[in-house]
Amino acid sequence: MHGIKAQLEELAGKGLLRSLRHYERTPQGKVYDGSQELWNFAANDYLGLSTHPQIAAAYITGIQDHGIGAGASRLVSGGSPVFSQFEQELATAKKQPSALFFSSGYAAAVGTIPALVGKNDFIILDKLSHACLIDGSKLSGATIRVFPHNDVEKLNRLLGKIRATQPATSRILVITESVFSMDGDLCPLAEIVACKNQYDATLLLDEAHGFGVLGENGGGLAEQLNLTESVDIHMGTLSKAAGLAGGFIASSQHIIDLLINRARSFIYSTAPPPALVAAARTALAIIRSAEGHMLRTQLHTNAAHFSKILGSSPSPSAIIPLVLGDNHRALRAAETLRHAGFLVPAIRYPTVPPNTARLRISLSAAHPPSTIAELATIAGTLLH
Ligand SMILES: *Cc1c(COP(=O)(O)O)cnc(C)c1O
Repeated sequence: MHGIKAQLEELAGKGLLRSLRHYERTPQGKVYDGSQELWNFAANDYLGLSTHPQIAAAYITGIQDHGIGAGASRLVSGGSPVFSQFEQELATAKKQPSALFFSSGYAAAVGTIPALVGKNDFIILDKLSHACLIDGSKLSGATIRVFPHNDVEKLNRLLGKIRATQPATSRILVITESVFSMDGDLCPLAEIVACKNQYDATLLLDEAHGFGVLGENGGGLAEQLNLTESVDIHMGTLSKAAGLAGGFIASSQHIIDLLINRARSFIYSTAPPPALVAAARTALAIIRSAEGHMLRTQLHTNAAHFSKILGSSPSPSAIIPLVLGDNHRALRAAETLRHAGFLVPAIRYPTVPPNTARLRISLSAAHPPSTIAELATIAGTLLH
C-alpha cells in the first residue's frame, strides 16, 4: 500500500501518533508499567471493582460452571441460562421490561442504532457523542443531524423542522450521553426528554460513565433524576464502573425483540463468555448494594476534594478534564505527571475537537484522599 510511512510521520509531526504501552494491573488503583508503579488515573474503574475479590471468585466459579467460552452466537447455541438471568437483573436495575447483553458497549451501539433506524429515518446526535454512537449512526443509513453540545434549543429546532417536513412515519432517534466521556459533564436530561416527547422522537441514552456512578442504586443519571421511564432506550457498559467488559441495552420488550432479530453485532458475533456474565451478576449486585453505595459516596467525596484543591467547580462525575489546548503541551504535562508517579492520559484529536487537547483525570473510589490531594496540587501547576 502506498504512503503508509508518510502517513505515520505526518501523525507524529502533529503530536498525534499513538503507540501501545503495557501495564500490569495491581489492586488499589495502581498499575505497574514495567519499571515503576503508578497511580492509575487513566482507568474507568470508578468503584475499584476490576480487582474486587468477590467478583473474581464469581468469575472463577463461572468458568467451573460454564466453561471458558460460549462456543457460538446466542442465536445458535451460545446462550447459557446465565445470560437471561443477568439480563433480567439488568432490566430490573434499569426499571425496564427487558435487556440484552452485547460483547461490548461499542458493539451495543453499532448493533442497536442501525436496527432501529434506516434510510427514511433521522438521527439527531449531540456533537460530543462517543465514536461508537457516531459509527452506529453512519452504519444505519439514516439522515444524521448534529446539535451543539447540550444545546436543547437547537435540538428542539431540528426536531421541529424534521416533523414539519417529513412523513409522520419517519422515525427520529435522539442520541446523547448521560456523562460525557471526555468532559465529565452531564446532559440536561429532563429538557431533552421534554423535547423528544413533544415531537414523538425516541431517546437513546448512553450511560457508559453514569452506570454504577450516579443514582441511589448506581442505575445512572436517569435514575438520579427519576427519569428512568422517560428514556426509551438505555445503553450501558460493564467495562467502566462494573470493572469487567460487555455492553447492554435495556428497553421495552418490543425493542429488545427487534434487537435480537436485527442487531448484527449481536447476531453475527459469538456470545461473550458465560463466566464473564456470572461475574457481571456479582458486579451488578455489588453496585446495587450498601457496599456499592459506600463506594459511590467515596468516589464523589474524592471528586469534590480534587475540585476544591484545584479551585474548579465541583465535578458531577468521576471524570475531570484539564484542557490544555495544544497536543504537545498535553503530552508534556502527561509526562510530568508520569515522573511524579501518576498515570494520566493526554487526550488529543480526533477523540476531542482540535486544539482542545487535555489531560483526562479519571477518579476512583480506590484512590486514597492523600493521593487525590497530591495529584490535584501538581495538576494545578500544569494549568498555568
Ligand atoms: C467506553 C464507552 C463506550 C464503549 O463501551 P465499551 O464497553 O468500552 O465498548 C460507549 N460509550 C461511551 C460514552 C463510552 O465512554
